[in-house]
Amino acid sequence: MTANPLLNDWSTPFALPPFSQIATEQFRDAFSHALRDHEAEIAAITSNPEAPTFANTIDALELAGRKLNKVGSVFWNLTGTDSTEELRVLEREISPQLTRHFTAISLNPELFARVSALYDRCEDLTLDEEQARLLELTHKSFVRTGAKLEGEARARYAQIAETLSELETQFAQNILADETDFLFELEEADLAGLADDIKAAAAQTAKDRNTAKPCALTLQRSSVESFLSQSTRRDLREELFKAFVARGEHAGKTDNRPLIAQILALRQEKASLLGYKTFADYKLEPTMAHEPSAAAALMEKLWTPALRRAEEERAALQDLIDGEGGNFALAAHDWRYYAEKLRLSRYALDQAELAAYFQLESMIDAAFYCAEKLFDLRFERRFDLPVYHTDVRAYEVKDGHGRHVAIFYGDYFARAGKRSGAWMSGFRSQKKLGGEERPVIVNVMNFLKPTPDRPSLLTLTEVITLFHEFGHALHGMLSDVVYPSMSGTSTPTDFVEFPSQVYEHWALRPEVLQKFAKHFETGAPMPQALIDRIVAARCFNQGFGTVEFLASALVDFKLHWRPDAPAEVGAAEADILETIGMPAEIVMRHRSPHFGHVFAGESYAAGYYSYLWSETLDADGFAAFEEAGDIFDRETAKKLRDYVYSAGNRRDPNAAYAAFRGRGPDVEALLRKKGFV
Ligand SMILES: [Zn+2]
Repeated sequence: MTANPLLNDWSTPFALPPFSQIATEQFRDAFSHALRDHEAEIAAITSNPEAPTFANTIDALELAGRKLNKVGSVFWNLTGTDSTEELRVLEREISPQLTRHFTAISLNPELFARVSALYDRCEDLTLDEEQARLLELTHKSFVRTGAKLEGEARARYAQIAETLSELETQFAQNILADETDFLFELEEADLAGLADDIKAAAAQTAKDRNTAKPCALTLQRSSVESFLSQSTRRDLREELFKAFVARGEHAGKTDNRPLIAQILALRQEKASLLGYKTFADYKLEPTMAHEPSAAAALMEKLWTPALRRAEEERAALQDLIDGEGGNFALAAHDWRYYAEKLRLSRYALDQAELAAYFQLESMIDAAFYCAEKLFDLRFERRFDLPVYHTDVRAYEVKDGHGRHVAIFYGDYFARAGKRSGAWMSGFRSQKKLGGEERPVIVNVMNFLKPTPDRPSLLTLTEVITLFHEFGHALHGMLSDVVYPSMSGTSTPTDFVEFPSQVYEHWALRPEVLQKFAKHFETGAPMPQALIDRIVAARCFNQGFGTVEFLASALVDFKLHWRPDAPAEVGAAEADILETIGMPAEIVMRHRSPHFGHVFAGESYAAGYYSYLWSETLDADGFAAFEEAGDIFDRETAKKLRDYVYSAGNRRDPNAAYAAFRGRGPDVEALLRKKGFV
C-alpha cells in the first residue's frame, strides 16, 4: 500500500477508479512508479534464461504494463474531459516520457530477438487463430517501430518519435486554447433567430466567463454550427465562421502552422527510415485498404458525384436567396442557414420542431433498447459507483441471464475544459489472459445541459452522434477475446468505424422513433407524417456533407502521400483544394491548423478516409438486416456480434467482414445510401 490511490488495488465496486481520492499531483509519482514496474517486467522477460516460448514471451508481454495502463487510462480520460492548466503542464511532461519508454521497448534488441525467434518458427508452435495473429501483429509492430534499425538510424528514430509526441501534444493544446479562450460576445439583439436552448447556453457562458456583453459563444463546434444554421444575422454568421475556420491559425503562441510543417517532415523521415516510400504507405500497410492507391480510389469514386450533387444544392440555395430578394452570392457562412430554410420548405423539417421530440434521456433509452434487441443487453443506472464529474452517470451492463458484462459511463454535457466533439474511451479493456477482466467504457459528448424548465434536447445530427459513439462503446463492452492488445476497438482505423457507423442506422428507423421520440412537453409520440419526412429528407444536403468531409480526407491524404513535406501548409492545402475543384462556398470540415484527428496524434494521420471506408461497410452491412426483413433479425445480429462487436482484432478485418456478410462489401451500397445513384 502507498498513499497514492493510483498505485493501489482499487477496492471500489467493480474495481473502478476511486476518482474522488485522486489528486492531479499524484499522477507524476504514479507514472514514474508504473513506468519502472513496466521496465522491470520487460527486463524479467529478456533475462529469462529459458528459450523463448509463446507463454514466457508473448503472454508475458501482453500482461506487462497493467499498472501503467491503469494510471494512463485515468490520466488520458481526464485530460480530454476535465483539462486544467495543471493537467496540461503534466501532459506536456508525461507525453515525451511515455514515448521514450515505449520506443525503448520497441528498440530493445533482446526482446525483439525473442519475438523474432518465435515468429520464425510460428508454424511449429501449434497456435490457435487469435494467438497466431497476435504473434504476427506483435512482430510487425516491433518492425514498424524501428526494431530492425541499427546505428545512427536507430538513434534518429527514437529522437523523431519523441519530438513528434511533443509536437502533437502541443498541437492539441493549441486547439483547445483557441476553442475555449475565444469568446464571441453578443448583445441580446444579436441572438435573432436562435432557439431558446442556444440563447440560454449563450447567457450561461457569458455569466460563467464574466463577459462585458450579456451573451457569449465559444468556438466549440456544436454552438458554432447551431448559430450558423439559425442566426438571421448574416454579418455575425460571417464573423463567427471566420473565427471558427481560423482555429489554430492565429499568429502567436497557439499557431499550429509551424508545428504541422515539422510534424509532416518528421513523419516522412520516419517512414523513409523504416523503408517506406511515403508516410501514407507506412500508415496504410496494416489497414483494410492496405495500399494508399486503394484508399485514394474510393475517395475519387465518391468525389465526382458528391461535387455534382453539391453544385445542385448550391444552385438551389442561391435560388432561395434570389427569391427572397437577397442581393448577394451564397457564401460559406450562409450555407447552413439556407440549407435549413430549404429543408424546411422542401420537407417541412424544422430543426426546432424535431428537437422537441429528441430528449436526450429518451434517446439514451433508445440506444439501450436497440442493444437489448440486438445483443440481449440490459442497462441499470447505478448511483453508488464512483464518477469523475457530477455530470457523469454510471450504468451496470448485464446480459439477459443477469451476468455482468461491463460498466458504462455516459458523460453527455459540454463544460469548460472538455475537448470539443464526441468520443468513446475506456478505463479498462476486456481480456481473459491471466484472469478475465470486464471492460469499463465511457462515451463523452458535448450536448447542451438541461435548464430548470427544459430537458436536454438533441438535433438530428446529435442523435446520430449519440448512436455512433454508443456503437463504439458496444464494440468495447461486448469484446470477448483472450489477449488485451486484441481487445475491443484495437482494430485498424478503417474498420473501427464500422461498428459505430452501422449502429447509426438504427437511430432514425420508424420502429425506434415511434417508441422513443416523444414530445418533451406533451409526451405525444412523433407523428408518422414527421417520421416519413425524416426518411424522405435522408439524403438532403448530402453533397455538402460529403464534399466537406472528402476535402478534409483528401488534404490529409495528399499531405502524407508524397515523398517530401510541404514547406508551408497553407499553400499546400490551397493547392490540393484547387486541384480537386473545391467549391468556394464549402470549407473543409477540418482545416489543417485544427485537424486534431490528423495532427494531435498519429492514429488518423493519412487515415481520415477511414470513416468513408467504414461507411462502405456500414451501408452494405446494415443492408443485411433489411434483406432479412427485420432490423433486429436475430441471426444477422448474432453474426454481427460474433464476427464484429465481440471479435476485437482477433481476425483480419477483411476476413471478419466476409464472415459476417458471407461476401466482401459492395461499394454501390454506399452510393445508394448517399443518394448518388
Ligand atoms: Zn467514430
